Amino acid sequence: MRYVYLDNNATTQCDETVFSAMLPFFRERYANPSSPHSMGKEAFDACSDARDKVAYLLRCTASEIVFTSGATESNNLLLIGYTGQSERRRRIVTSRIEHKSVRMPCRLLQNQGFDVQEVCVTPEGVVDLSAATQLIDEDTALVSVQAANNETGVLQPIGELVDIAHSKGALFHCDAAQWIGKLPTPEWFDRCDFISISGHKFYGPKGVGVLMMRNGIPRSRMAPVIIGGGQENGLRSGTSNVPSIVGIGVACSILSERIAKDMFDIAMMRNIFENAITTEVPGVRINGATVPRLPGTCSLTIPGIPAQMVIANLARICVSEGSACTSGSTEPSYVLVAMGLSREEADCTIRISFGRMNSKQDAIDAAQSIAEVIKYLRDKVGS
Ligand code: PMP
Repeated sequence: MRYVYLDNNATTQCDETVFSAMLPFFRERYANPSSPHSMGKEAFDACSDARDKVAYLLRCTASEIVFTSGATESNNLLLIGYTGQSERRRRIVTSRIEHKSVRMPCRLLQNQGFDVQEVCVTPEGVVDLSAATQLIDEDTALVSVQAANNETGVLQPIGELVDIAHSKGALFHCDAAQWIGKLPTPEWFDRCDFISISGHKFYGPKGVGVLMMRNGIPRSRMAPVIIGGGQENGLRSGTSNVPSIVGIGVACSILSERIAKDMFDIAMMRNIFENAITTEVPGVRINGATVPRLPGTCSLTIPGIPAQMVIANLARICVSEGSACTSGSTEPSYVLVAMGLSREEADCTIRISFGRMNSKQDAIDAAQSIAEVIKYLRDKVGS
C-alpha cells in the first residue's frame, strides 16, 4: 500500500543525501574520534566539519555546539544542568504549552525547590506577553519557551521574550525542535543563550541533536547530566555518534540551501488541504488559524468525532492525534486545553503535518479521504 505520510512534526524521512553521507561511518570510517591515530583523527575531522555546518545554519560558532541524542536530551541538559548551578536566582519561567521534555525537567526542578512559573497562552495558542512580563522578575534564572508548537504549529514571540528575560538579567532558552527544518533561521536566534534542536525533525537521522550554548556563559555554570569520558567539552560524555553527527551536519547544509523553497511548497500543500477540508466538511475548526503558524501544520478539531476513530478509519493517510509524543496516554492534549478547548474538543483534534517529501496530490488525497471518513463517522454516530 502507498501511504501518504502527513506526520512530519513527529518525524521526517531521512534525506537520501544525508543517508549516503552517513554510510561510510558505519563500516569503513568507523574509528572513535577521541582516538589518537590517523583513523581517529579522520573521524574527529568529520565531526568538526559537521559542527561547522550546524553552526552555519544556527549562525553561531562551532564551539557553541554540543552534540546530544536529540532535543529531549538538550532540553534536559540545559534545564537540569544549568539551573542546578543557580544558587541565587530561584525562579524558572516557561509556558503552558512546552513539550514534555521541558515540562518534566521543570517539574523535577520544582520538587527541588525552584519556583517554576508557566505563562498562559491566548486562545490562539500564543504565549501571553503581558503575563510573561509579570512573571519574569529579578529572581528569574532562566526563561524557556519553544519557538513553535508541535501540535498547532503556532509561532511564539521569542524576540520579545528574549528581551524581557535579558532586561531582568535572566538567560533565555529556546526549544527550536519544530522551527528548524520548517522556517529559516530567525534574527532572534542570535540573542538566545541556549537553543535545542533534533536531527530527525529536519530530514536528518534520529538519535542526534544539538544544544547551542553561548560562549560567554561560563562552562562552570553548566553541570553535565551524563558524565564519563568528558566528550563535548565535558558537557556530554559518551563515544560520539559519528554517523549521526555527520548526518545532522549534512541535513543542516541542505536546509541552508533549500529552506525558502521548502517553506513555500509546504505552505501551499497545507493551504490546499485546509481549503478543501473546510469546504467539504462543515463545522471543522483549525486551531491557531489567525496567527502566524509553521507552514505545514494543521491542527483540526472535528466536533463530536474522536481523533482515534478518524485515524483508525484512515488506512492510507498517516496523521496524528493532537501530538504523537503524548499519544497512547488517556490525558487530553494540555496544549489544546491551555488554549481553552474542552477535553472533548481536544480529543476530537487531529494533526496533519506536511513535509518536503509530500506533494500537492498528497494534500488533495488527504483532504478527500479525511472528508469521506468524517462523513461516514458522522452518519454512524448520528444513526
Ligand atoms: N521539543 C519539541 C517542541 C518537540 O516537538 C520534540 C519532539 N516531538 C522534542 C522537543 C523532543 O525531540 P526528540 O524526541 O527528538 O528528543
